[in-house]
Amino acid sequence: MDSKKNTRRVAVLDRHLRVDSNSSEPYSDSEHLHLNDTSSAQIFRTLEFSFADSMKKFPDSASNVLDYESLLGREEKEIIARVRRFSEQHVAPVISDYWEKAEFPFPLLGKFAELGIGGGCLPREYGCQGLSLLSCAMAVVELARVDGSMSTFFLVHSFLAALTIGMLGSEEQKKELLPDMATFAKVGCWALTEPSHGSDASHLLSTARKVSGGWVLNGRKRWIGNGTFADIVVVFARNEETGEINAFLVRRGNPGLKTTKIENKIALRCVQNADIELTDAFVPDSDRLSGLNSFKDVNKVGMMHGLMR
Ligand SMILES: Cc1cc2nc3c(=O)[nH]c(=O)nc-3n(C[C@H](O)[C@H](O)[C@H](O)COP(=O)(O)OP(=O)(O)OC[C@H]3O[C@@H](n4cnc5c(N)ncnc54)[C@H](O)[C@@H]3O)c2cc1C
Repeated sequence: MDSKKNTRRVAVLDRHLRVDSNSSEPYSDSEHLHLNDTSSAQIFRTLEFSFADSMKKFPDSASNVLDYESLLGREEKEIIARVRRFSEQHVAPVISDYWEKAEFPFPLLGKFAELGIGGGCLPREYGCQGLSLLSCAMAVVELARVDGSMSTFFLVHSFLAALTIGMLGSEEQKKELLPDMATFAKVGCWALTEPSHGSDASHLLSTARKVSGGWVLNGRKRWIGNGTFADIVVVFARNEETGEINAFLVRRGNPGLKTTKIENKIALRCVQNADIELTDAFVPDSDRLSGLNSFKDVNKVGMMHGLMR
């Protein structure tokens, strides 16, 4: 680190932080070099926060301005400590390199499993952790503190895919899939958005046609997080008979499923967003989510997910 350059950057920042917005007084470079101990420069020196360096050693959490932790229970505090330790020890040292390459850090999946948060607030009877909603939200906060892509990965897997199955799937689907999803042995994604239907997702165009023993899905999805490698794709499509939106579990390897990575993102680069094409993808009756019969049901999951963000 070039400490002279750093001191100068801090000084400029300090000047900006203290500048009186009504003042038109210009500031000279020389005054930046004389700072007192209570300035923001001192704070940054204490944190040893080096500008433009990657966060391989993530700075300690130095303040808790809102002091919300004092309001939390034992479980939430324990989750915060556990996820913070994981993020600082395992995510921070490697994530910048994955960010540069826009790749997902697959070796971290095992560590995610050990964390014991994959099943979120879904019940223990399905191999999940039955955490409080607040604990789950704290886990997201702690992951996001170190890396936004990792918190997004967790949200999409646990609070879109697994939660949809947990809230609206059959007993068989829950028993089969949730234990593996709780340990990240199977990763999920959630395919609602389409190339021309994002904010107005309720107008989606993908179709589901009833055939003997199952359904045939056709359509396109865009921006689907975890979509390039997910084992289970929760797909939303319009039931051709009723005109309502239904949901289906499309499994990796389905010959009608094609996923293509969206390249050249400028943010959340480790999240593997996919364009998805469904071409006469056959899904058996047992892989339709029987509790999802209209867009109102999609919103039930969206509401829970929204609470987590
Ligand atoms: C990193 C990432 C991960 C994602 N993961 C998933 C996922 O896992 N699953 C999934 O299904 N989708 C996912 N999405 C898609 C996301 O949900 C959509 O991008 C979002 O719904 C917006 O849709 P859009 O991109 O088509 O933008 P648009 O709907 O075209 O919106 C573009 C802009 O116009 C504004 N706008 C739109 N309509 C109106 C209106 N009526 N009035 C005023 N302003 C309006 C919007 O606020 C926005 O600023 C992901 C997106 C990103 C970037």
